[in-house]
Amino acid sequence: MPSVCVCCKERSATLVRPKSGEAYCKLCFFDAFENEIHETIINENLFKPGETVAIAASGGKDSTVLAHVMKLLNERHSYGLKLVLLSIDEGITGYRDDSLETVKRNQIQYDLPLIILTYKDLYGWSMDEIVKVVGLKNNCTFCGVFRRQALDRGAMKLNVNKIATGHNADDIAETILMNILRGDIARLKRCTAIITGGDNETEIEFVPRCKPLKYAYEKEIVLYAFYKKLDYFSTECLYSPNAYRGNVRTYIKDLERLRPSAIIDIIHSGEQLIIKSNCKMPTQRNCERCNYYSSMAVCKACVLIEGLNRGLPKLGIGKTERLRKQLKNKEDTEKMSISSLDDTSTSVCCSENSLCHCKERFKDLTTNPT
Ligand code: SF4
Repeated sequence: MPSVCVCCKERSATLVRPKSGEAYCKLCFFDAFENEIHETIINENLFKPGETVAIAASGGKDSTVLAHVMKLLNERHSYGLKLVLLSIDEGITGYRDDSLETVKRNQIQYDLPLIILTYKDLYGWSMDEIVKVVGLKNNCTFCGVFRRQALDRGAMKLNVNKIATGHNADDIAETILMNILRGDIARLKRCTAIITGGDNETEIEFVPRCKPLKYAYEKEIVLYAFYKKLDYFSTECLYSPNAYRGNVRTYIKDLERLRPSAIIDIIHSGEQLIIKSNCKMPTQRNCERCNYYSSMAVCKACVLIEGLNRGLPKLGIGKTERLRKQLKNKEDTEKMSISSLDDTSTSVCCSENSLCHCKERFKDLTTNPT
């Protein structure tokens, strides 16, 4: 490594930037990293003065760096934003309970309000309980679907204009490749967008979400957190099989070793993809049970909850013909109509089950605050 920083040409270089391969001193690296995020925020028009922004905070490196940098840039450049921390407690003992302790310390360190919503309160089930009945194969499907809605619910509760998430360049490159490999055109179309959601017929979240770290490399986020001595939690989720993303991640890391710009190149390629106008996309509507966005009569979360509550935890996962028949038989006996898997069917809410949280869960999701 050259002994002098390529940027200030005075101080000793202490690190090599993974993004450019250049040797920087700590101070110049901090400046460059923060300025690049500021440029993303300004060039992409992520926020408007006066907006309230919820930072989705998990206690991990990405969201901790996001909270730190957002607070710093908001003050340095007078964005005029009101920042709050929003955390979701999935109910994973030994993982989320510990990471939330980090978020609580961050709340004090950054002097920001914090709200924590739990899966148990919202859905009647914690991830520990879900894993007990579904095992470790499909648990992330439940967790991902529930989290998407939980963040919206928290944002509505806080009456925020936007949610800022800690997705970084590596996450986005992985998602682009995963969607290409799966042929998931609907997701491919939206996964490169820096702002998603809001009151738009093609969107699937109530409150707009943005990704200020979209162009920040994971390695640089780690370096920034390390040299800034930020307080973050670095343990992996105990229920993290996620084999498919893991394979894509390994593949991208291999590519990055050969060509350091691979991550940003994948993002730029994804941004240039144009979906044919005659490509059939799902139409969004509102779930007839909980009012959340859905491409079907009943949203995925309601289907999954119904499956859990009725002892058919695989309902809504993969091919469900057999389960659909089982449910139909069950409902016939209970004089209930089949509700969840058919667009044209008349839905019966699982509120007939005492564990149902559908109506309670989204009773406030009738207006978009933005
Ligand atoms: Fe949830 Fe799966 Fe992520 Fe764990 S790895 S937090 S179970 S989505």
